[in-house]
Order: sequence, then structure tokens, then C-alpha cells
Amino acid sequence: MTREFDFYIVPTPIGNIQDITLRAIEVLKSVDLIACEDTRVTQKLLNHYDIKTKCFSYHKYNERERVGYFLKELSEGKKIALVSDAGTPMICDPGAVIVNELKNAGYSISALPGACAVTTFLSEIPREGEEYTFIGFIPRNEKQIEEVAKKYLKHNFVFYESPERILKTLKTIQKTRGDIKIALGRELSKLFEEINVDKISSIIEHYSNGIKGEIVCMIYANEDSENTEMEFKIKELKNKGFKDKEISTILSTICGFNKNEVYKKSLEL
Ligand code: SAM
Repeated sequence: MTREFDFYIVPTPIGNIQDITLRAIEVLKSVDLIACEDTRVTQKLLNHYDIKTKCFSYHKYNERERVGYFLKELSEGKKIALVSDAGTPMICDPGAVIVNELKNAGYSISALPGACAVTTFLSEIPREGEEYTFIGFIPRNEKQIEEVAKKYLKHNFVFYESPERILKTLKTIQKTRGDIKIALGRELSKLFEEINVDKISSIIEHYSNGIKGEIVCMIYANEDSENTEMEFKIKELKNKGFKDKEISTILSTICGFNKNEVYKKSLEL
């Protein structure tokens, strides 16, 4: 038996139109209204599955103003399903404002499991252990990309990026972290789906003529992260004008690095 809710969060396919669950189709058919990020995009899916439910739009720029409309319809006893253009709502897609408000108003909400680019990607790439950090879309600014690359030195981090920016982003990460291992997924569940796991230099080379389609990427933790972290810190202090001897004293005292190793490395850099 399936329990009924006032409001459903429903994932839709990320490429292959068949990647939708039986329950998602049933819910989309049974609710009174479907809230769509873009009604034209969702209508194609609804036509394919012969779903006749009425649609209305919400998007990241009008989410807050739309809350009143959701509350009004729900107060009249209507059931609503929320979808985004593709994949799972609220994973780099709008919906969070509405869901929070509806929770505060006491409506019952259920999120259905389903398609999502990041989980599809993670279930296919080689990984040791479970740990990863998903940061959504990586920042566009070079300085911020460098900061992210440094921050996750010891952890696998996963991000979404556009095909127009990915090569520039990877070059910035390479400059910051060296020739590390990465995994790049492109067009998952679509005709030209591919996953590449290699050194960042090889991936940049592989796509040197450009890259098309939707992209998800994981930067593996640096194998020699202790050394790399030490190098980052030495460079930072050098940029601030500290001398090699001072750097070795500071980093051995504050961070517990071996004083002689810091000094040797500082001379090299
Ligand atoms: N809500 C979606 C989800 O559940 O994955 C993500 C929406 S976000 C606006 C769109 C980004 O997700 C794309 O720019 C791309 O980085 C990633 N993405 C979506 N579909 C993808 C696919 N089929 N293959 C690889 N990446 C995909």
C-alpha cells in the first residue's frame, strides 16, 4: 500500500526518457497539479507518458512569490508534485524555498527516489571508500576555483560544470594541485555517454578540441596530500615575504610539520 502525501518531489530523467520510476509516473498522473521549472520541457515528458495533469511554473527567480499560490492550492485540498527540468529537484535546481515553506505550514511532503547526475556518476566511477563531497556547480572565478581545489586536497570532490568552462576549470585545478587523477562523466544516460578516469593532463589533452554536453566531474584526493598541503602553506608564506628559516619555524610550530623537511622544501620552491 502506498501512503498519500500533500506534496511530492519527483525526479525526472537526466537524458534517457525511460529513466523514470513507475511510482513517479503514477504520482504525476494522480496529483491535481504539477509545478514545473519550465512547463515546455516537462510537457514533452508528460506527453510521452500520456499524463494529462495540469502544469504551472515556478523557477529560481520567482520561487518566493510562488509560495502563496502553492499554499492556496494545498489549502483547497489539492495535491501537488514538483519537478525540475531534469533529475532530482533541489540538486542544483530550485524548490528548496517552496519545500521549506510548505514544511513550516505543516503539509506532508514526500521525495521520490530517482535520476540524478551525481549519483549516477558516482555509482560508475572507481572509488576507494564511500567518502566524497558534492559541491554543486564549481565557482566560475579562477581564484575561487583555486580555493576549492586547495580546500578538498584530502577529499574526493564532485562538481557540475558547463562544457564551455570545463577545460579552463580543469587547467586551474591542474595548476593548483598538479597532475592528479580525475574522473569526468559526460552525457550520462544519453547516446554519447562516456566516463573517463585518468590524469588531469590526459583528460585536458583528450578534449583539447573542445567538449560538448552535460558534465559531472570528480577530483580525487591527492595521494601525497601531506606534502602538497605543506607546499601550499610554504607558498602562501613565501608570498607574504617570509624567509625559508622563518617558514620552517612557523610551519613546524603551528602545523606540526618536520622543521628540516619544511626548510628543504622551502629552498626548492
Ligand atoms: N537536478 C539535476 C540532477 O539531479 O542531477 C541537476 C540539475 S543542474 C541545473 C544541471 C547540471 O547537472 C548540468 O549542467 C550537468 O553538470 C549535470 N548533469 C545533468 N544531466 C547530466 C548528464 N546526463 N550527464 C552529466 N551531467 C549531467
